[in-house]
Parts: sequence; structure tokens; C-alpha cells
Amino acid sequence: MNLPSENTTDQLLQTHQRAKLFLLFGLPILAAYGVAALRNANWPLVCLITANILVIGGSYLALLRGRDRPSTARPGMFTYAALLLYMIAFSGEEHSHALWFFSFPLVSIMLLPLREGAIWAGLGIAIATCIMVMGGPETGTSSYSMAFTSRFTITAILIAGGIFWSEVVLRRYQKETMAHRSVIEAESTRLKAEIARRVALEVDLRVQASTDALTGLVNRRAFMDRFAHELARSQRHGPSPTLLMLDIDHFKKINDKHGHPAGDIVLAHLAQLLKSSVRNVDIVGRIGGEEFAVVLVETNAQMAAPVIERLLERLRNTTVTLADATQLKFTASIGSTEILWADTIDTAIQRADEALYTAKKTGRDRHCQR
Ligand code: GH3
Ligand code: MG
Ligand code: MG
Repeated sequence: MNLPSENTTDQLLQTHQRAKLFLLFGLPILAAYGVAALRNANWPLVCLITANILVIGGSYLALLRGRDRPSTARPGMFTYAALLLYMIAFSGEEHSHALWFFSFPLVSIMLLPLREGAIWAGLGIAIATCIMVMGGPETGTSSYSMAFTSRFTITAILIAGGIFWSEVVLRRYQKETMAHRSVIEAESTRLKAEIARRVALEVDLRVQASTDALTGLVNRRAFMDRFAHELARSQRHGPSPTLLMLDIDHFKKINDKHGHPAGDIVLAHLAQLLKSSVRNVDIVGRIGGEEFAVVLVETNAQMAAPVIERLLERLRNTTVTLADATQLKFTASIGSTEILWADTIDTAIQRADEALYTAKKTGRDRHCQR
């Protein structure tokens, strides 16, 4: 017969629980029997029971200490078998002691690995039957009638067979349950990985949708969102921010003279310079080709003026190294406006644009405020 595999963690746990149960019922019964044997001065029985209590108790302790192997139960099974066979050989009046043997197939099949337990049960029944058949006054052991022996043996075989069969069914069921569980676990792991991948993808897409690829700054749409948010916040709680519009001077000439890729390098350079010139809380965005916007949070016009002047100074002093090692200098013009209580983003941008226009008209490389 193709038996289900043994010694899985679940089965060891089950053996553990069963051993505990047998011990809970078995040890008090053994102890009671031991006391009765002591009273009757039945020393071989006293010795066997004592050996059983010690060996079974020791095996259980070993099991508790993590020695979850079938070999842990074997010494206990062996002493228990010896006790039961002794009780068959010396079964007392009406052979009542012999009937305790029926517990043997139950314990062996339920505690040992299935195949081994069945062998122990079969051997035990065979030896018990031999003792019964051969026993009598000539051997000094109990004598049994053929009718008793055959009924005893058949009952023991039926008990062993029944337990064996129920164990086979139980282990098959456990095996199938475990297979289902691992399929479900694998599917759950796959789903978790897929969810993590999609969440990462979504975050990535969200970042991409709000980022300008060339400069790494927020793009026009994301800038307007953040600006609108800051505008609403400052109008509720103050203090006012200042909005800056920045446009590179004569950028067309840079493109025309050095090529579009060189223009791109200038744009990226300016973006980094802008980012590093303001605080982390400030909002810096690329809102057009070579137009940038900055919101200086909680900074009124008066506080913004020196910041902007310092920025223009940094721009004048900066040099961009092009791919052909050419050193390029450039300037920019800035229009700024402090956000008013009644502003919308459109009115604020319009004023900053007008200031920028004035800066361009009045000679570039400067800051105008409105
Ligand atoms: P002004 O001082 O009046 O601003 O002169 P300008 O030449 O900078 O004029 P304008 O602001 O109109 O020039 C915009 C130029 O920016 C036109 C376009 O070719 C260039 N441009 C826009 N986007 C990009 C880009 O992504 N890369 C590069 N290299 N150039 C760009
Ligand atoms: Mg422009
Ligand atoms: Mg320009």
C-alpha cells in the first residue's frame, strides 16, 4: 500500500500532543497498578511497571526537549510491550490483565511512524497469541482456552486494523490539506509581489507625471498644484509667500551658437543652481522651455529681495562646461511679486510675468518686483 509520507512538522506536533495525552491517562493507571502489585508483592510486575514509568517519563522529557524523532518513543514502546506481554503470561483470574494488551496497537500505531507502528502492533499480537497458545501449567504461565485466544487475537487484529486505517485516512487528509495550503501560500506570495510591483509602478508613474525629465524639477502642472496649495494655505494662516518668474536671457542665441544639446545643459545647470539656492520647503519648477518659477514660502517681498539678488549674483558667477569643454556664461531676468490676500494663482502669475517683462525691457540680468 502506498502510505502517506511521515515525519512532517505537523505530524511531529501531533505525535507530541498524543504522547502527552497517553501520558496523562497512562501514568496514573500504571502507578495504580504498581501500588496494587506492591501490595501483592508481585516483584516482577513492580519492576516492569517502575521501568515503564521511568522510561516513558524519560522519553516524554526528551520529546519536550525537542528530540522529536520516532526513536524517542521506541524505548517506551519496548518496555510497555514487555509489561503487557508479562500481563498476558500472568493474567490473573479471568484473564482480566490480558485485556490491557488491546491498548498496545493503539499506542504503537498512533505514536510511531505509521509503517513501523503497524509492524510493532502485528509483532505484539503474534507474540501475545504465542504466549497464550503455549502457556499452561507446564510453562508456569496462565493457560487460555482456544476460544478465548482466537477471540482475543481477532479483536486485537480488528483494533489494530481499524486504527491503522483511520491513521492512513487522517494522514492522507493532512497531506492534501498541506498541499492546498502550500498552493494558497504560493499564490498569496505571488499576489503580494504583484501588488508591491504595481504600487512601485504607480509611485514611479506619479513621480514621472509630475517631474520634468531634463531638469528633475517639478513640471508646470505639478508646480501649479503645489503653488495653489501654498496660496490657499498662506491665505488662511499667513505669512505670505513670494512668487518668482525666471527667464534665461538671450537663450535663443545660446541654442543657435552652441546647439540645442548645449542649451539643455544650461537648463539642467540652472535647475540645480536654483534648487541649491533656496530652502527645501520652497517650490521650484520648470514651467516652460527656459522659464522657471519659484515660490519662496513664508517670505514677503522685502525678505525675498536679497535672496533674489544673491541668486542673480550666483548666476552671473556660474560657468557651464559644455560637452566640447567650452566654458559658457549666461544670465537671467527675474520678476517677483508677494502674494496678496485676494490673489488667485492666475493674478499672482500675471503680476510676476509683468515684473519679468519689465526686467527684460529695462536691460535683462536683473530683478523687478510688483
Ligand atoms: P529673452 O532674453 O528675451 O528671453 O530672449 P530668449 O532668446 O531667451 O527668448 P525666449 O525666451 O523667447 O527664448 C526661448 C527659447 O528657448 C526658444 C527655444 O528654442 C528655447 N527652448 C525652449 N525649450 C528648450 C529646451 O528644452 N531646450 C533647449 N535647448 N532650448 C529650449
Ligand atoms: Mg522665454
Ligand atoms: Mg529667454
